[in-house]
Amino acid sequence: MSAVNSKLNADLHCHSTVSDGLLAPAEVVRRAYAHDAELLALTDHDELSGLAEARAAADEVGLRFVDGVEISVSWGNDTSLHIVGLGIDPAHAGLRESLAYLRSGRDRRARLMSEELDKVGIHGAYEGALRYVSNPSLVSRAHFARYIVEIGRARDVKSVFDYWLGKDKPGYVRHVWASLEQAVAWVRNAGGVSVIAHPLRYKISRQELRRLFGEFRDFGGEAIEVLSGGQCEADTLEFARYAREFGFLASRGSDFHGPGESRVDLGKLAALPEGLTPVWSKLV
Ligand code: AMP
Ligand code: MN
Ligand code: MN
Ligand code: MN
Repeated sequence: MSAVNSKLNADLHCHSTVSDGLLAPAEVVRRAYAHDAELLALTDHDELSGLAEARAAADEVGLRFVDGVEISVSWGNDTSLHIVGLGIDPAHAGLRESLAYLRSGRDRRARLMSEELDKVGIHGAYEGALRYVSNPSLVSRAHFARYIVEIGRARDVKSVFDYWLGKDKPGYVRHVWASLEQAVAWVRNAGGVSVIAHPLRYKISRQELRRLFGEFRDFGGEAIEVLSGGQCEADTLEFARYAREFGFLASRGSDFHGPGESRVDLGKLAALPEGLTPVWSKLV
């Protein structure tokens, strides 16, 4: 077996219109290829239905492709986490059923969010968000954010989260997603590797973050995103240290949602720091 190339231009986290991305799965693939990505995973939220189209497009252009998913998780006292599953079997019945169940709570949550937003003068948010949705089983806060920008109540998607949709903001609705243990088990049972997505994004202390890493590892989690879209070099080096300390494989993903909406484009991430085992050592 040849040595794993840790400098491979891998992008193992991004979204299409089957969740809250702006481009269709095939367009995501073609954009990644045009940006010189060498390995791509599509990781839509709680949804596998874009993978067949993405893989067909990847085969057509000659880009190596990994089937992925980003699972919504509730951890501890109302912390939402995201676990990326890489190399999963998209036909796995157990995973498909579990994700369908997870998605089934989204519509009700969206209606409740709309009711809360109505109380603060943002009217018609459910219908407004739906106009941005391609997959009716996957209404996300990102769709609400686009509507709120459209009606001029925030200047960009990020500000919507700061003022309206982030935790403890007026439009936030508490929701119970999968447990960490479930998410890791679903991915493992479907033949994949679990990755903690964008570990910097969670509003938890470093002490809690270490507890999360320990629990995740105990449940069988194997990797963390050392590189995620838009983080600075100091953050990357900090997560490289955690990867070494906890014995995690290192992943690299832009979390691209669409042109103009994401700080880092597909295939445009910095290189992994030295001395890490890339997660693609288990994928290619
Ligand atoms: P949901 O799964 O419905 O809770 O929506 C989560 C999605 O909202 C994430 O996947 C992002 O696309 C988006 N999001 C969450 N927080 C932010 C933020 N601070 N800035 C921009 N987008 C965000
Ligand atoms: Mn998203
Ligand atoms: Mn995420
Ligand atoms: Mn994501």
